[in-house]
Amino acid sequence: MTVVDASAVLRQGLLQLSKSDQVRSVIERAPVSRSVVKRFVPGDATGDAVRAAGDLAATGRLTTIDYLGEDTLDLAQAQATRDAYLALLSALSDAGLTQGGKAEVSVKLSAVGQYLPGDGEKIALEHAREICEAAARAGTTVTLDMEDHTTTDSTLQVLRELRQDFPWVGAVLQAYLHRTEADCRDLAAAGSRVRLCKGAYKEPESVAFQSKEDVDKSYVRCLKVLMAGEGYPMVASHDPRLVEIAGALAAKHDRAADSFEYQMLYGIRPEEQRRIADRGDQMRVYIPYGEEWYGYLMRRMAERPANTMFFLRGLATKG
Ligand SMILES: Cc1cc2nc3c(=O)[nH]c(=O)nc-3n(C[C@H](O)[C@H](O)[C@H](O)COP(=O)(O)OP(=O)(O)OC[C@H]3O[C@@H](n4cnc5c(N)ncnc54)[C@H](O)[C@@H]3O)c2cc1C
Repeated sequence: MTVVDASAVLRQGLLQLSKSDQVRSVIERAPVSRSVVKRFVPGDATGDAVRAAGDLAATGRLTTIDYLGEDTLDLAQAQATRDAYLALLSALSDAGLTQGGKAEVSVKLSAVGQYLPGDGEKIALEHAREICEAAARAGTTVTLDMEDHTTTDSTLQVLRELRQDFPWVGAVLQAYLHRTEADCRDLAAAGSRVRLCKGAYKEPESVAFQSKEDVDKSYVRCLKVLMAGEGYPMVASHDPRLVEIAGALAAKHDRAADSFEYQMLYGIRPEEQRRIADRGDQMRVYIPYGEEWYGYLMRRMAERPANTMFFLRGLATKG
């Protein structure tokens, strides 16, 4: 078995495992989990996220902040998530971090009600609208995270509706989906902020490329469309090859440094994040915070065996 095969097996296994309630409760209760999780999630409270954003701003990095939580089937929970975003935006504004979009927020529609039976999409739209109004007041922007492929059409529909009032709302497109190159063409219009990532969910062959090579090739095709277009590409990847290709494409299209940005996750390749910011390009760090770190952490584990080893070593040595 090759290394690539082994990591693919690990990835599928971890994404499968992440659905087990039993495994979840063991990992969540392990006392050391908290300290190990800290590498990827700065804390539970609004203040933890604001502090992390301030620290990153001090080193020239922009941020986008995600209040962790997804897939809620409970209206009160969806409202609480909306309220957490409103409190976050107000705290970021008080800390002077929102001007010019220095710190913005990333929102998962499933966390604000998209899956609620009946009116889910409408409720998520209303909650997202309230978050956008608060962001506008604070002088910053919102990006709608993209979740599994069953939600893509609904999320893009909500995006279109929000953009009528808030044209700066950012979209996320996932290069592993077959449809994404076409979606990039649709969204590469003036003023359109589009985050391109590889995609983090377990998706079937019928809708998504399965091998790393095919996903990477799709990423480059999508990047070419976005960089050649009129919009504002947000290059979300830790992959050194893709980061380099993004830079070359930006140069080819004479893009100014403020007409696109790189994005990476909190705690991943921090030295590279600094290097990109120091050379004068825009680097935005995605900061997740909150109690609901489990699903987020499992996706990071599935992506990279080294992340899993880091976590398991922590459990073994400090537990
Ligand atoms: C800002 C941001 C927002 C995102 N939003 C979404 C979203 O809304 N929806 C969604 O489905 N997914 C999202 N993702 C996750 C994304 O889809 C990928 O799952 C994740 O970024 C891993 O893919 P990668 O491009 O980094 O490449 P990978 O194929 O995971 O890694 C490629 C290479 O990057 C380097 N690398 C990766 N991780 C590390 C590490 N820990 N340390 C050192 N080097 C490393 C290695 O050289 C590795 O070979 C987001 C990612 C980012 C960065």
